[in-house]
Amino acid sequence: MATTFEDALVVGILDANISMATGYPGFPITSIFEKVIERSFQASTKIVATWCINESVALGNAIGACLSGARSVVFVKNHGLNTMQDMLINLSYLGTRAGMLIISADDIGVKASHNESDSRLYGPLNMIPVIEPATVKDAYQYVSYGLEVSEDYKTPVILRICGSQLQQIGELNVRLQKSYTPMYNFKPKDGKCYYIGPDYYRQMKFSMIERIEKIKSLKNNNFNNFILGNCDIGIICSGNSYNKVLKVFPNAKIFKLGLVYPIILEDLEQFFSHVNDLKKVWIIEETENLIEYQITEFLYKKTFKNSNSHSLKEVIGKDSLSKVGEISEKELMKIIGNMNDGESSESTIGHENKQFVKLCPACPARAILLSLKLLNITAIGDAGCTALGTLNPFKSVHCCVCMGASIPIAAGINRITENKVVALIGDSAFFHSGILGLLNEIGHSTNLLTIIFNNKNAGMTGGQIVNIGTQDCVNSSDKIKTILQAAGVLKENVKVIKESLNLTKIKSQISKMYQENKGSKVLIIEGQCRYNIRDISDIAIKVGNAVKMIKGSMLDPGCFAYQKVDMNTHKLYTKYCGNCRICEILVNK
Ligand code: SF4
Ligand code: SF4
Repeated sequence: MATTFEDALVVGILDANISMATGYPGFPITSIFEKVIERSFQASTKIVATWCINESVALGNAIGACLSGARSVVFVKNHGLNTMQDMLINLSYLGTRAGMLIISADDIGVKASHNESDSRLYGPLNMIPVIEPATVKDAYQYVSYGLEVSEDYKTPVILRICGSQLQQIGELNVRLQKSYTPMYNFKPKDGKCYYIGPDYYRQMKFSMIERIEKIKSLKNNNFNNFILGNCDIGIICSGNSYNKVLKVFPNAKIFKLGLVYPIILEDLEQFFSHVNDLKKVWIIEETENLIEYQITEFLYKKTFKNSNSHSLKEVIGKDSLSKVGEISEKELMKIIGNMNDGESSESTIGHENKQFVKLCPACPARAILLSLKLLNITAIGDAGCTALGTLNPFKSVHCCVCMGASIPIAAGINRITENKVVALIGDSAFFHSGILGLLNEIGHSTNLLTIIFNNKNAGMTGGQIVNIGTQDCVNSSDKIKTILQAAGVLKENVKVIKESLNLTKIKSQISKMYQENKGSKVLIIEGQCRYNIRDISDIAIKVGNAVKMIKGSMLDPGCFAYQKVDMNTHKLYTKYCGNCRICEILVNK
Protein backbone atom coordinates (compact mmCIF):
# COMPACT_ATOMS: atom_id res chain seq x y z
CA MET A 1 0.00 0.00 0.00
CA ALA A 2 1.40 3.42 -0.96
CA THR A 3 1.64 5.75 2.00
CA THR A 4 3.57 8.77 3.19
CA PHE A 5 6.61 8.69 5.44
CA GLU A 6 4.64 10.67 8.03
CA ASP A 7 1.71 8.23 8.04
CA ALA A 8 4.07 5.26 8.21
CA LEU A 9 5.58 6.71 11.39
CA VAL A 10 2.11 7.19 12.88
CA VAL A 11 1.13 3.59 12.09
CA GLY A 12 4.48 2.42 13.46
CA ILE A 13 3.72 4.16 16.74
CA LEU A 14 0.20 2.74 16.93
CA ASP A 15 1.49 -0.77 16.20
CA ALA A 16 4.28 -0.67 18.80
CA ASN A 17 2.23 -0.85 21.99
CA ILE A 18 3.32 2.60 23.06
CA SER A 19 1.41 3.82 26.11
CA MET A 20 2.44 7.46 26.26
CA ALA A 21 3.21 10.03 23.55
CA THR A 22 4.18 13.60 24.42
CA GLY A 23 5.64 16.59 22.60
CA TYR A 24 5.76 20.31 22.02
CA PRO A 25 4.45 21.67 18.69
CA GLY A 26 6.66 23.03 15.94
CA PHE A 27 7.86 22.09 12.48
CA PRO A 28 8.43 19.33 11.42
CA ILE A 29 6.66 17.20 14.03
CA THR A 30 3.33 19.00 14.49
CA SER A 31 1.37 17.18 11.79
CA ILE A 32 2.66 13.72 12.82
CA PHE A 33 1.83 14.17 16.46
CA GLU A 34 -1.60 15.66 15.66
CA LYS A 35 -2.42 12.41 13.86
CA VAL A 36 -1.26 10.36 16.86
CA ILE A 37 -3.42 12.49 19.18
CA GLU A 38 -6.41 12.05 16.86
CA ARG A 39 -5.97 8.28 16.88
CA SER A 40 -5.50 8.24 20.65
CA PHE A 41 -9.20 9.10 21.04
CA GLN A 42 -10.24 5.85 19.36
CA ALA A 43 -11.40 3.19 21.79
CA SER A 44 -9.07 0.58 20.28
CA THR A 45 -5.97 2.71 20.95
CA LYS A 46 -4.48 2.58 24.43
CA ILE A 47 -2.19 5.55 24.21
CA VAL A 48 -2.14 8.72 26.28
CA ALA A 49 -1.10 11.45 23.82
CA THR A 50 -0.81 15.10 24.86
CA TRP A 51 0.99 18.28 23.93
CA CYS A 52 3.10 19.56 26.81
CA ILE A 53 4.25 22.96 27.95
CA ASN A 54 7.78 22.36 26.66
CA GLU A 55 10.09 19.57 25.52
CA SER A 56 11.64 19.04 28.92
CA VAL A 57 8.22 18.47 30.49
CA ALA A 58 7.33 16.16 27.59
CA LEU A 59 10.44 14.10 28.31
CA GLY A 60 9.67 14.10 32.04
CA ASN A 61 6.19 12.66 31.40
CA ALA A 62 7.72 10.01 29.18
CA ILE A 63 10.33 9.12 31.81
CA GLY A 64 7.46 8.58 34.25
CA ALA A 65 5.83 6.15 31.81
CA CYS A 66 9.14 4.47 31.04
CA LEU A 67 9.98 3.87 34.71
CA SER A 68 6.46 2.49 35.16
CA GLY A 69 7.15 -0.18 32.58
CA ALA A 70 5.24 1.42 29.68
CA ARG A 71 6.67 2.33 26.28
CA SER A 72 6.82 6.02 25.42
CA VAL A 73 7.63 8.33 22.54
CA VAL A 74 8.52 12.03 22.70
CA PHE A 75 8.09 14.31 19.66
CA VAL A 76 10.69 17.03 19.32
CA LYS A 77 10.69 19.89 16.82
CA ASN A 78 13.64 21.58 15.14
CA HIS A 79 16.04 22.67 17.96
CA GLY A 80 13.71 21.08 20.52
CA LEU A 81 16.32 18.71 21.94
CA ASN A 82 18.14 21.71 23.36
CA THR A 83 15.30 22.32 25.80
CA MET A 84 15.37 18.77 27.17
CA GLN A 85 19.13 18.21 27.20
CA ASP A 86 19.56 18.52 30.96
CA MET A 87 16.99 15.81 31.60
CA LEU A 88 18.23 13.70 28.68
CA ILE A 89 21.84 13.37 29.84
CA ASN A 90 20.61 12.37 33.29
CA LEU A 91 18.22 9.83 31.79
CA SER A 92 21.12 8.39 29.84
CA TYR A 93 22.97 7.86 33.12
CA LEU A 94 19.91 6.31 34.77
CA GLY A 95 18.92 4.06 31.90
CA THR A 96 15.40 3.11 30.88
CA ARG A 97 13.01 0.40 31.98
CA ALA A 98 10.46 0.20 29.13
CA GLY A 99 11.45 1.38 25.67
CA MET A 100 11.66 5.09 24.94
CA LEU A 101 12.00 6.78 21.56
CA ILE A 102 12.71 10.46 21.07
CA ILE A 103 11.55 11.40 17.57
CA SER A 104 13.68 14.41 16.75
CA ALA A 105 12.76 16.21 13.53
CA ASP A 106 15.25 18.66 12.05
CA ASP A 107 14.37 21.31 9.50
CA ILE A 108 17.46 20.94 7.31
CA GLY A 109 17.32 23.59 4.59
CA VAL A 110 14.92 25.65 6.74
CA LYS A 111 11.49 25.09 5.21
CA ALA A 112 9.47 26.49 8.10
CA SER A 113 11.91 27.36 10.90
CA HIS A 114 14.37 30.15 11.59
CA ASN A 115 17.54 28.14 11.10
CA GLU A 116 18.85 24.58 11.21
CA SER A 117 20.87 22.24 13.39
CA ASP A 118 21.75 18.55 13.34
CA SER A 119 20.19 16.83 16.34
CA ARG A 120 22.06 13.58 15.61
CA LEU A 121 24.94 15.10 17.56
CA TYR A 122 22.96 14.58 20.75
CA GLY A 123 23.73 10.88 20.32
CA PRO A 124 27.47 11.06 21.10
CA LEU A 125 26.93 13.89 23.59
CA ASN A 126 24.59 11.72 25.68
CA MET A 127 26.02 8.35 24.67
CA ILE A 128 22.68 7.18 23.29
CA PRO A 129 21.98 5.52 19.93
CA VAL A 130 20.63 7.46 16.95
CA ILE A 131 18.63 5.75 14.20
CA GLU A 132 17.73 7.43 10.93
CA PRO A 133 14.97 6.00 8.70
CA ALA A 134 15.32 6.70 4.98
CA THR A 135 12.29 5.04 3.41
CA VAL A 136 8.59 4.75 4.23
CA LYS A 137 9.14 1.15 5.30
CA ASP A 138 12.01 2.23 7.57
CA ALA A 139 9.80 4.91 9.13
CA TYR A 140 7.31 2.24 10.12
CA GLN A 141 9.76 -0.45 11.23
CA TYR A 142 12.30 1.71 13.04
CA VAL A 143 9.73 2.64 15.67
CA SER A 144 9.54 -0.97 16.87
CA TYR A 145 13.20 -1.74 16.19
CA GLY A 146 14.29 1.39 18.05
CA LEU A 147 12.15 0.46 21.06
CA GLU A 148 13.69 -3.01 21.09
CA VAL A 149 17.21 -1.51 21.19
CA SER A 150 16.01 0.81 23.95
CA GLU A 151 14.78 -2.16 25.98
CA ASP A 152 17.71 -4.46 25.23
CA TYR A 153 20.33 -1.85 26.18
CA LYS A 154 18.33 0.19 28.73
CA THR A 155 18.83 3.43 26.86
CA PRO A 156 16.63 6.10 25.29
CA VAL A 157 16.98 6.06 21.49
CA ILE A 158 16.84 9.08 19.18
CA LEU A 159 14.91 8.47 15.95
CA ARG A 160 15.97 11.35 13.75
CA ILE A 161 14.00 12.54 10.73
CA CYS A 162 14.01 15.66 8.52
CA GLY A 163 11.09 17.85 7.47
CA SER A 164 11.59 17.17 3.77
CA GLN A 165 10.99 13.44 4.32
CA LEU A 166 7.44 13.75 5.66
CA GLN A 167 5.53 13.70 2.38
CA GLN A 168 7.77 11.15 0.69
CA ILE A 169 5.60 8.33 -0.75
CA GLY A 170 6.52 4.67 -0.63
CA GLU A 171 5.15 1.19 -0.23
CA LEU A 172 4.29 -0.12 3.22
CA ASN A 173 3.66 -3.83 2.90
CA VAL A 174 4.75 -5.03 6.33
CA ARG A 175 3.09 -4.92 9.73
CA LEU A 176 5.02 -5.96 12.82
CA GLN A 177 3.49 -7.96 15.65
CA LYS A 178 2.92 -6.14 18.91
CA SER A 179 5.63 -7.61 21.06
CA TYR A 180 5.49 -5.66 24.29
CA THR A 181 3.18 -5.93 27.27
CA PRO A 182 3.19 -2.81 29.43
CA MET A 183 3.47 -3.29 33.18
CA TYR A 184 2.02 -0.03 34.50
CA ASN A 185 3.74 -0.13 37.87
CA PHE A 186 6.48 2.16 39.09
CA LYS A 187 9.22 -0.06 40.36
CA PRO A 188 12.55 1.22 41.66
CA LYS A 189 15.46 -0.51 39.96
CA ASP A 190 16.75 -3.52 41.94
CA GLY A 191 15.22 -2.11 45.08
CA LYS A 192 17.30 1.10 44.71
CA CYS A 193 15.93 4.50 43.86
CA TYR A 194 16.61 6.13 40.50
CA TYR A 195 19.32 8.56 41.46
CA ILE A 196 22.64 9.72 40.05
CA GLY A 197 24.71 10.84 42.98
CA PRO A 198 28.43 11.60 42.88
CA ASP A 199 29.10 8.31 44.65
CA TYR A 200 27.50 6.34 41.78
CA TYR A 201 28.35 8.49 38.81
CA ARG A 202 31.66 6.83 37.87
CA GLN A 203 30.14 3.38 37.81
CA MET A 204 27.16 4.67 35.82
CA LYS A 205 29.34 6.49 33.31
CA PHE A 206 31.42 3.36 32.73
CA SER A 207 28.12 1.53 32.10
CA MET A 208 27.12 4.13 29.50
CA ILE A 209 30.46 3.72 27.72
CA GLU A 210 30.13 -0.05 27.84
CA ARG A 211 26.56 0.19 26.50
CA ILE A 212 27.69 2.10 23.42
CA GLU A 213 30.56 -0.34 22.86
CA LYS A 214 28.10 -3.25 23.00
CA ILE A 215 25.79 -1.58 20.47
CA LYS A 216 28.80 -1.16 18.16
CA SER A 217 28.97 -4.96 18.10
CA LEU A 218 25.24 -5.54 17.52
CA LYS A 219 24.69 -8.74 15.51
CA ASN A 220 22.01 -9.21 12.84
CA ASN A 221 20.74 -5.70 13.24
CA ASN A 222 17.61 -4.45 11.48
CA PHE A 223 19.05 -1.09 10.53
CA ASN A 224 21.94 -1.34 8.07
CA ASN A 225 21.86 -2.55 4.45
CA PHE A 226 24.21 -2.91 1.51
CA ILE A 227 22.96 -2.03 -1.95
CA LEU A 228 25.74 -3.37 -4.13
CA GLY A 229 25.43 -2.14 -7.70
CA ASN A 230 27.97 -2.77 -10.43
CA CYS A 231 29.29 0.76 -10.74
CA ASP A 232 32.67 1.67 -9.23
CA ILE A 233 31.42 4.27 -6.81
CA GLY A 234 31.31 3.55 -3.08
CA ILE A 235 29.01 5.65 -0.89
CA ILE A 236 28.10 5.54 2.79
CA CYS A 237 24.94 7.48 3.65
CA SER A 238 21.77 7.50 5.72
CA GLY A 239 18.28 8.98 6.01
CA ASN A 240 17.27 11.58 3.49
CA SER A 241 20.74 11.60 1.89
CA TYR A 242 20.29 7.93 1.01
CA ASN A 243 17.19 8.66 -1.08
CA LYS A 244 19.07 11.29 -3.07
CA VAL A 245 22.14 9.08 -3.52
CA LEU A 246 19.99 6.18 -4.74
CA LYS A 247 18.24 8.42 -7.25
CA VAL A 248 21.44 9.84 -8.70
CA PHE A 249 23.64 6.71 -8.46
CA PRO A 250 21.27 3.70 -8.48
CA ASN A 251 24.13 1.35 -9.46
CA ALA A 252 26.66 2.50 -6.88
CA LYS A 253 27.89 0.35 -4.02
CA ILE A 254 25.98 1.87 -1.13
CA PHE A 255 26.21 1.26 2.60
CA LYS A 256 22.84 2.50 3.86
CA LEU A 257 23.19 3.18 7.56
CA GLY A 258 20.08 3.06 9.70
CA LEU A 259 21.95 3.14 13.00
CA VAL A 260 24.10 6.23 12.53
CA TYR A 261 25.46 6.35 16.06
CA PRO A 262 27.23 4.24 17.05
CA ILE A 263 28.23 2.67 13.75
CA ILE A 264 28.33 -1.12 13.88
CA LEU A 265 31.96 -1.89 13.16
CA GLU A 266 31.44 -5.35 11.71
CA ASP A 267 29.07 -3.91 9.10
CA LEU A 268 31.60 -1.24 8.26
CA GLU A 269 34.37 -3.83 7.83
CA GLN A 270 32.09 -5.87 5.61
CA PHE A 271 31.27 -2.88 3.41
CA PHE A 272 34.94 -2.05 3.05
CA SER A 273 35.58 -5.60 1.90
CA HIS A 274 32.93 -5.07 -0.83
CA VAL A 275 34.68 -1.92 -2.04
CA ASN A 276 38.23 -3.09 -1.42
CA ASP A 277 39.30 -2.37 -4.96
CA LEU A 278 37.97 1.20 -4.93
CA LYS A 279 40.34 4.01 -4.04
CA LYS A 280 37.71 6.34 -2.65
CA VAL A 281 34.62 6.05 -0.54
CA TRP A 282 32.20 8.95 -0.26
CA ILE A 283 30.33 9.78 2.91
CA ILE A 284 27.18 11.70 2.13
CA GLU A 285 25.40 13.30 5.07
CA GLU A 286 23.62 16.62 5.42
CA THR A 287 24.98 19.31 7.75
CA GLU A 288 27.30 17.74 10.36
CA ASN A 289 29.89 14.98 9.87
CA LEU A 290 28.65 12.48 12.46
CA ILE A 291 29.18 9.43 10.23
CA GLU A 292 32.45 10.71 8.80
CA TYR A 293 34.13 11.26 12.14
CA GLN A 294 33.25 7.76 13.33
CA ILE A 295 34.55 6.18 10.14
CA THR A 296 37.77 8.16 10.02
CA GLU A 297 38.38 7.33 13.68
CA PHE A 298 37.79 3.65 12.92
CA LEU A 299 40.15 3.67 9.92
CA TYR A 300 42.81 5.59 11.81
CA LYS A 301 42.78 3.17 14.74
CA LYS A 302 42.67 0.19 12.41
CA THR A 303 45.74 1.32 10.53
CA PHE A 304 47.82 1.86 13.62
CA LYS A 305 46.64 -1.16 15.60
CA ASN A 306 46.81 -3.74 12.85
CA SER A 307 49.31 -3.37 10.08
CA ASN A 308 47.74 -6.35 8.23
CA SER A 309 44.37 -4.62 7.85
CA HIS A 310 43.01 -3.46 4.51
CA SER A 311 44.66 -0.39 3.05
CA LEU A 312 43.53 3.00 4.27
CA LYS A 313 41.02 4.35 1.79
CA GLU A 314 40.51 7.93 0.83
CA VAL A 315 37.31 8.81 2.62
CA ILE A 316 35.70 11.97 1.29
CA GLY A 317 33.05 13.75 3.28
CA LYS A 318 32.74 17.31 4.42
CA ASP A 319 35.93 18.32 2.58
CA SER A 320 33.73 18.37 -0.51
CA LEU A 321 30.25 18.95 0.83
CA SER A 322 28.77 21.94 2.55
CA LYS A 323 27.66 21.77 6.18
CA VAL A 324 24.82 24.16 5.34
CA GLY A 325 21.39 23.12 4.13
CA GLU A 326 20.23 20.14 2.11
CA ILE A 327 22.44 18.39 -0.42
CA SER A 328 20.99 18.68 -3.91
CA GLU A 329 21.03 15.94 -6.50
CA LYS A 330 22.97 18.30 -8.78
CA GLU A 331 25.69 18.66 -6.17
CA LEU A 332 25.97 14.89 -5.93
CA MET A 333 26.28 14.64 -9.70
CA LYS A 334 28.99 17.24 -9.78
CA ILE A 335 31.02 16.15 -6.78
CA ILE A 336 30.84 12.37 -7.09
CA GLY A 337 29.90 11.86 -10.71
CA ASN A 338 32.19 14.62 -11.95
CA MET A 339 29.35 15.86 -14.13
CA ASN A 340 29.57 19.55 -14.76
CA ASP A 341 25.91 20.45 -14.99
CA GLY A 342 25.69 20.48 -11.21
CA GLU A 343 25.95 23.42 -8.90
CA SER A 344 28.77 23.64 -6.39
CA SER A 345 27.99 22.99 -2.76
CA GLU A 346 29.03 26.54 -1.95
CA SER A 347 26.41 27.88 -4.31
CA THR A 348 23.65 26.79 -1.97
CA ILE A 349 25.15 28.73 0.93
CA GLY A 350 23.35 31.95 1.54
CA HIS A 351 20.24 30.98 -0.42
CA GLU A 352 17.36 32.45 1.48
CA ASN A 353 13.93 31.01 1.82
CA LYS A 354 11.62 33.79 0.82
CA GLN A 355 8.58 32.86 2.84
CA PHE A 356 5.52 35.03 2.31
CA VAL A 357 4.41 35.58 5.89
CA LYS A 358 2.02 38.10 7.34
CA LEU A 359 -0.30 38.22 10.29
CA CYS A 360 -3.79 36.84 9.62
CA PRO A 361 -6.62 39.30 8.97
CA ALA A 362 -8.00 40.57 12.31
CA CYS A 363 -5.07 38.99 14.15
CA PRO A 364 -5.12 40.01 17.82
CA ALA A 365 -1.34 40.68 17.73
CA ARG A 366 -1.57 43.45 15.13
CA ALA A 367 -2.54 46.22 17.53
CA ILE A 368 0.41 45.37 19.80
CA LEU A 369 2.96 45.47 16.99
CA LEU A 370 1.50 48.68 15.55
CA SER A 371 1.40 50.31 19.00
CA LEU A 372 5.08 49.58 19.57
CA LYS A 373 5.87 51.01 16.14
CA LEU A 374 3.79 54.16 16.67
CA LEU A 375 5.31 54.66 20.15
CA ASN A 376 8.82 54.01 18.82
CA ILE A 377 9.48 51.54 21.65
CA THR A 378 12.14 48.88 21.16
CA ALA A 379 10.78 45.39 21.77
CA ILE A 380 12.69 42.17 22.35
CA GLY A 381 10.52 39.43 20.88
CA ASP A 382 10.15 35.70 21.16
CA ALA A 383 9.33 32.70 18.97
CA GLY A 384 5.79 32.60 17.59
CA CYS A 385 3.53 34.90 15.58
CA THR A 386 4.80 38.06 17.27
CA ALA A 387 8.19 37.34 15.68
CA LEU A 388 6.56 38.66 12.50
CA GLY A 389 7.03 42.04 14.18
CA THR A 390 10.66 41.84 13.03
CA LEU A 391 9.46 42.16 9.42
CA ASN A 392 7.96 44.93 7.35
CA PRO A 393 5.65 46.73 7.75
CA PHE A 394 6.01 46.55 11.55
CA LYS A 395 9.74 46.44 12.27
CA SER A 396 8.77 46.94 15.90
CA VAL A 397 10.53 43.86 17.27
CA HIS A 398 14.28 44.37 17.20
CA CYS A 399 15.66 41.10 18.48
CA CYS A 400 14.20 37.60 18.49
CA VAL A 401 16.42 34.72 19.57
CA CYS A 402 14.38 31.67 20.58
CA MET A 403 11.59 30.34 22.79
CA GLY A 404 11.66 32.04 26.17
CA ALA A 405 14.58 34.37 25.39
CA SER A 406 12.70 37.68 25.20
CA ILE A 407 12.36 38.38 28.93
CA PRO A 408 15.92 37.59 30.08
CA ILE A 409 17.44 39.43 27.11
CA ALA A 410 15.26 42.50 27.61
CA ALA A 411 16.07 42.43 31.33
CA GLY A 412 19.79 42.18 30.59
CA ILE A 413 19.55 45.26 28.35
CA ASN A 414 17.53 47.21 30.92
CA ARG A 415 19.96 46.35 33.70
CA ILE A 416 23.04 47.74 32.01
CA THR A 417 21.88 50.42 29.57
CA GLU A 418 19.85 53.59 29.57
CA ASN A 419 17.78 52.28 26.65
CA LYS A 420 14.63 50.91 28.13
CA VAL A 421 13.24 48.03 26.08
CA VAL A 422 10.13 45.88 26.54
CA ALA A 423 9.78 42.10 26.28
CA LEU A 424 7.06 40.74 23.99
CA ILE A 425 6.12 37.08 24.29
CA GLY A 426 3.17 34.85 23.39
CA ASP A 427 1.41 32.73 26.01
CA SER A 428 2.81 29.55 24.52
CA ALA A 429 6.46 30.68 24.69
CA PHE A 430 5.78 32.25 28.09
CA PHE A 431 4.79 28.92 29.60
CA HIS A 432 7.39 27.03 27.56
CA SER A 433 10.30 28.80 29.25
CA GLY A 434 9.72 32.55 29.35
CA ILE A 435 8.12 32.38 32.79
CA LEU A 436 11.48 31.40 34.29
CA GLY A 437 13.05 34.59 32.96
CA LEU A 438 10.27 36.63 34.50
CA LEU A 439 10.59 34.89 37.88
CA ASN A 440 14.29 35.75 37.80
CA GLU A 441 13.60 39.44 37.15
CA ILE A 442 10.92 39.62 39.84
CA GLY A 443 13.62 38.45 42.25
CA HIS A 444 16.01 41.16 41.01
CA SER A 445 13.32 43.90 40.94
CA THR A 446 14.36 44.68 37.36
CA ASN A 447 12.49 47.54 35.77
CA LEU A 448 10.90 45.79 32.81
CA LEU A 449 7.58 45.85 31.00
CA THR A 450 6.65 42.40 29.69
CA ILE A 451 3.78 42.18 27.22
CA ILE A 452 2.21 38.74 27.14
CA PHE A 453 0.18 38.19 24.00
CA ASN A 454 -2.38 35.60 25.08
CA ASN A 455 -3.98 34.19 21.95
CA LYS A 456 -4.90 31.06 23.91
CA ASN A 457 -2.95 28.59 21.80
CA ALA A 458 0.28 27.96 19.91
CA GLY A 459 -0.88 30.01 16.90
CA MET A 460 2.21 29.78 14.71
CA THR A 461 2.17 25.99 14.66
CA GLY A 462 -1.55 25.55 14.05
CA GLY A 463 -3.38 26.29 17.27
CA GLN A 464 -2.31 23.49 19.59
CA ILE A 465 -3.47 23.70 23.17
CA VAL A 466 -0.37 23.58 25.32
CA ASN A 467 -1.03 25.50 28.52
CA ILE A 468 -3.62 27.16 30.72
CA GLY A 469 -4.05 29.90 28.11
CA THR A 470 -6.16 27.52 26.07
CA GLN A 471 -9.14 28.02 23.83
CA ASP A 472 -11.53 26.45 26.28
CA CYS A 473 -10.09 28.23 29.30
CA VAL A 474 -12.27 31.33 29.44
CA ASN A 475 -10.38 33.09 32.19
CA SER A 476 -6.88 32.24 31.07
CA SER A 477 -5.53 35.80 31.38
CA ASP A 478 -6.92 36.09 34.88
CA LYS A 479 -5.19 32.84 35.75
CA ILE A 480 -1.89 34.14 34.36
CA LYS A 481 -2.43 37.29 36.42
CA THR A 482 -2.97 35.21 39.57
CA ILE A 483 0.24 33.25 38.94
CA LEU A 484 2.23 36.46 38.42
CA GLN A 485 0.89 38.06 41.57
CA ALA A 486 1.63 34.93 43.57
CA ALA A 487 5.18 35.11 42.20
CA GLY A 488 5.61 38.64 43.48
CA VAL A 489 4.49 41.06 40.75
CA LEU A 490 2.59 43.85 42.49
CA LYS A 491 -1.15 43.81 41.90
CA GLU A 492 -1.12 47.30 40.36
CA ASN A 493 1.67 46.21 37.99
CA VAL A 494 -0.37 43.52 36.21
CA LYS A 495 -2.98 44.69 33.73
CA VAL A 496 -5.21 42.71 31.40
CA ILE A 497 -6.72 44.04 28.18
CA LYS A 498 -9.25 41.77 26.52
CA GLU A 499 -10.08 44.13 23.64
CA SER A 500 -7.14 43.02 21.53
CA LEU A 501 -8.29 44.94 18.45
CA ASN A 502 -8.51 48.25 20.29
CA LEU A 503 -5.35 49.89 18.99
CA THR A 504 -6.00 53.17 20.81
CA LYS A 505 -6.43 51.52 24.21
CA ILE A 506 -3.48 49.16 23.80
CA LYS A 507 -1.18 51.94 22.63
CA SER A 508 -2.16 54.15 25.55
CA GLN A 509 -1.70 51.35 28.13
CA ILE A 510 1.72 50.33 26.76
CA SER A 511 2.82 53.96 26.80
CA LYS A 512 1.66 54.41 30.40
CA MET A 513 3.24 51.25 31.79
CA TYR A 514 6.44 51.78 29.81
CA GLN A 515 7.02 55.14 31.47
CA GLU A 516 6.41 53.87 34.99
CA ASN A 517 9.54 52.97 36.91
CA LYS A 518 8.15 50.27 39.17
CA GLY A 519 10.07 47.00 38.74
CA SER A 520 8.38 44.10 36.95
CA LYS A 521 5.27 45.18 35.07
CA VAL A 522 3.18 42.83 32.96
CA LEU A 523 0.54 43.72 30.41
CA ILE A 524 -1.52 40.72 29.27
CA ILE A 525 -3.33 41.32 26.00
CA GLU A 526 -5.86 38.62 25.29
CA GLY A 527 -7.43 37.89 21.93
CA GLN A 528 -8.54 34.69 20.30
CA CYS A 529 -6.39 33.55 17.40
CA ARG A 530 -8.41 34.18 14.22
CA TYR A 531 -6.98 31.73 11.76
CA ASN A 532 -4.74 28.81 11.62
CA ILE A 533 -1.48 30.05 10.08
CA ARG A 534 -1.50 27.16 7.63
CA ASP A 535 -4.56 28.65 5.96
CA ILE A 536 -2.84 31.93 5.23
CA SER A 537 -1.27 31.02 1.90
CA ASP A 538 -4.66 29.70 0.93
CA ILE A 539 -6.24 33.02 1.81
CA ALA A 540 -3.64 34.87 -0.23
CA ILE A 541 -4.37 32.75 -3.27
CA LYS A 542 -8.13 32.95 -3.00
CA VAL A 543 -8.40 36.71 -2.54
CA GLY A 544 -11.16 37.76 -4.88
CA ASN A 545 -12.17 41.03 -6.46
CA ALA A 546 -14.60 42.43 -3.89
CA VAL A 547 -12.76 45.44 -2.49
CA LYS A 548 -13.33 48.44 -0.30
CA MET A 549 -11.25 51.51 -1.16
CA ILE A 550 -9.67 53.71 1.51
CA LYS A 551 -8.42 57.19 0.69
CA GLY A 552 -5.77 59.02 2.69
CA SER A 553 -2.32 58.20 4.00
CA MET A 554 -2.05 55.20 6.27
CA LEU A 555 0.41 52.74 7.76
CA ASP A 556 0.47 49.31 6.17
CA PRO A 557 -1.36 47.02 8.66
CA GLY A 558 0.61 43.95 7.52
CA CYS A 559 -2.50 42.01 6.51
CA PHE A 560 -3.31 39.67 3.64
CA ALA A 561 -6.60 41.46 3.08
CA TYR A 562 -4.84 44.81 2.55
CA GLN A 563 -3.13 46.17 -0.54
CA LYS A 564 -1.50 49.54 -1.01
CA VAL A 565 -2.30 51.07 -4.42
CA ASP A 566 -0.42 54.35 -3.96
CA MET A 567 0.39 56.75 -1.11
CA ASN A 568 -3.25 57.81 -0.78
CA THR A 569 -5.19 54.84 -2.07
CA HIS A 570 -5.61 51.48 -0.35
CA LYS A 571 -7.66 48.38 -1.03
CA LEU A 572 -9.26 46.05 1.50
CA TYR A 573 -10.37 42.72 0.06
CA THR A 574 -13.68 42.53 1.84
CA LYS A 575 -14.12 38.79 1.53
CA TYR A 576 -11.04 38.24 3.68
CA CYS A 577 -10.94 41.40 5.74
CA GLY A 578 -11.72 40.41 9.31
CA ASN A 579 -13.23 43.87 9.80
CA CYS A 580 -11.04 44.52 12.81
CA ARG A 581 -11.29 48.25 11.91
CA ILE A 582 -7.59 48.81 12.49
CA CYS A 583 -7.27 50.15 8.94
CA GLU A 584 -9.84 52.85 9.73
CA ILE A 585 -7.87 53.90 12.81
CA LEU A 586 -4.63 54.00 10.84
CA VAL A 587 -5.91 56.40 8.15
CA ASN A 588 -4.29 59.82 8.45
CA LYS A 589 -2.58 58.83 11.74
S1 SF4 B 1 -2.18 32.32 13.80
FE1 SF4 B 1 -3.27 33.60 15.30
S2 SF4 B 1 -1.70 34.84 16.30
FE2 SF4 B 1 -0.80 33.96 14.45
S3 SF4 B 1 -1.04 35.50 12.87
FE3 SF4 B 1 -2.84 34.17 12.75
S4 SF4 B 1 -4.40 35.08 14.09
FE4 SF4 B 1 -2.43 36.01 14.57
S1 SF4 C 1 -9.43 46.07 8.81
FE1 SF4 C 1 -7.42 46.05 7.85
S2 SF4 C 1 -6.10 44.96 9.27
FE2 SF4 C 1 -8.20 44.50 9.86
S3 SF4 C 1 -8.65 42.61 8.81
FE3 SF4 C 1 -9.34 44.26 7.48
S4 SF4 C 1 -7.62 44.66 6.12
FE4 SF4 C 1 -6.85 43.44 7.83
